[in-house]
Amino acid sequence: MKILRTVDELRRWSRAARSTPGSIIGLVPTMGALHAGHASLVRAARVACTHVAVSLFVNPTQFGPHEDYARYPRSFDADCSLAASGGADVLFAPPVEELYPNGPASTFVEVPGLGDRLDGASRPGHFRGVATVVAKLLLAAEPDRAFFGQKDAAQSAVLRRMVADLRLATEIVVCPIVRDSDGLAISSRNAYLSPVQRAQALTLSRAIRRVESLVAEGERRAEALIAAAREIFAAEPQIRIDFLALVDWSTLLPVETAAPGTLFAVAAFVGSTRLIDNTILN
Ligand code: AMP
Repeated sequence: MKILRTVDELRRWSRAARSTPGSIIGLVPTMGALHAGHASLVRAARVACTHVAVSLFVNPTQFGPHEDYARYPRSFDADCSLAASGGADVLFAPPVEELYPNGPASTFVEVPGLGDRLDGASRPGHFRGVATVVAKLLLAAEPDRAFFGQKDAAQSAVLRRMVADLRLATEIVVCPIVRDSDGLAISSRNAYLSPVQRAQALTLSRAIRRVESLVAEGERRAEALIAAAREIFAAEPQIRIDFLALVDWSTLLPVETAAPGTLFAVAAFVGSTRLIDNTILN
């Protein structure tokens, strides 16, 4: 696996790959601190594409001023091993100045109407940063497919809209959430949790499962589903709910009645660590 540091190198790699007859170029954007969730995206890309790039970039513009940009976990050597063993052909790991050559406050991509919902409402500017950096990556790598996790379901909705609006030739592929054996959605931020908090964090997946089982029993009313999830959180007063939401997955607008494809999403603070989880109801 080759390590690329500049946009030009990534572009050259992609254009060379494109000249191979039948090539399908895949990109897996990440912020590093790679784990089994990321590995599942690399594997999905490896299966679906002839050429696979993994990007590793802790994107400053998607962090709020009081968020964890400086202390976000970084583990370059382990990330290289995981990407290589997943079958990546190249790892794109640029320095910040490579993606923001004129400083962080230059050109932005915004997706109004979606980018300010759910996590975007709690973290103003977050999805503007995500859309901007993903647009830069897609313009550099020109992948046929880019792989993202359902774990960040609102992010996928924002990026699908961005790709449609900008008429980019990349398909956004969304892969299932990878969980630890006890149900906790795997996240780079789980590293911040103490053992006690790790146990408390299971409340998120418990609430998700409760909502899924109520839907399986026939409950469809958003109000009832959200109330049931809130009850699960009430048993763990150490956790502060950021939001519980039942929305249409493509518009991120609240729905009153669950239907196939409805997204139930939760965000909550365990100590100062903000965790997210969700399910797409069927
Ligand atoms: P991050 O490095 O946190 O920006 O995540 C990079 C990509 O990995 C995003 O598309 C995430 O949705 C995805 N991802 C993170 N955690 C998981 C998980 N537990 N299962 C599946 N995908 C994940």
